[in-house]
Amino acid sequence: MTARIIDGKAMAAEVRAEVAVRVKELGERGVTPGLATVLVGDDPASHVYVAGKRKACAEVGIKAWDHDLPASVPEPDLLALLNDLNEDAAVHGILVQLPLPEHIDEEAVLNAVLPDKDADGFHPYNLGRLLSGNKLIAPATPAGIQQMLIRSDVETDGSDVVIVGRSNIVGKPLAALLVQKEAGANATVTVCHTGTKDLEEHTLQADILVAAIGRAHAITAPMVKPGAVVIDVGINRTENGLVGDVDFEAVKEVASAITPVPGGVGPMTIAMLLSNTTTLAARTVS
Ligand code: NAP
Repeated sequence: MTARIIDGKAMAAEVRAEVAVRVKELGERGVTPGLATVLVGDDPASHVYVAGKRKACAEVGIKAWDHDLPASVPEPDLLALLNDLNEDAAVHGILVQLPLPEHIDEEAVLNAVLPDKDADGFHPYNLGRLLSGNKLIAPATPAGIQQMLIRSDVETDGSDVVIVGRSNIVGKPLAALLVQKEAGANATVTVCHTGTKDLEEHTLQADILVAAIGRAHAITAPMVKPGAVVIDVGINRTENGLVGDVDFEAVKEVASAITPVPGGVGPMTIAMLLSNTTTLAARTVS
């Protein structure tokens, strides 16, 4: 069997087109959605991600403000900027690109963004709402993964989902999203990590296997149940270019559907950030 490729690039274009329609409708009601992006330091990968996000905003008509701060910026200055953005009515979404330099308390920064402007959905209030099944918005990567499953007609209801990785930005919020008793979810979710005793024992049970590990080709073909749907979140820079956490060439011969890297989850993450910003802007319209 050769797996169907779940084309994240094409799906992201579809989502962006839908967002552009929502942005236009909001414009007719006097509101232009606005996203402020805050980038601290010189991490090359972060620069690439933020540039992609800013470009995508322009394409769908979202106004973007770019705040690039030096790595040495004192934490109080960063918090003061976030305070200004919180108070600026034209800014509907705020994104602080992670990771932050070591001298800055990441949690304090994420907590400083108003939940109503939390475009990434990382504020504890929004994570709590997600967990309790009453979400305002979901973090962009998990939201993008759920959309990829829905839009490629992958049944989550009653499926066994195994997520490898328990980060606060991917694994945990994705588990919270897919376990909800609602459409596009209602799965039985297992979250694996370095404390998992026998990883393969779990991955082989998965109808839907999500790899969010950060290690090139960590998921190999013998770890995948024949016919499973495999979602590869990983972005690993190797001498052969960008590769995922899944050994794509071998796993595609076992899986029924698979996302490529690049061109899979990455573009959907950006598209969902635009969608989140538009959702937050729409809430300001009475
Ligand atoms: P992270 O914070 O580094 O977390 C990695 C997770 O993988 C941890 O929970 C870790 O377990 C687990 N892990 C590592 N090695 C393992 C092993 N051998 N067996 C089982 N579990 C293992 O990573 P992240 O921020 O979630 O990112 C994961 C990957 O996705 C990275 O490549 C990142 O670049 C990529 N990413 C892509 C997007 C996108 O839009 N495509 C967005 C975000 C992240 P412990 O908790 O026990 O340490």
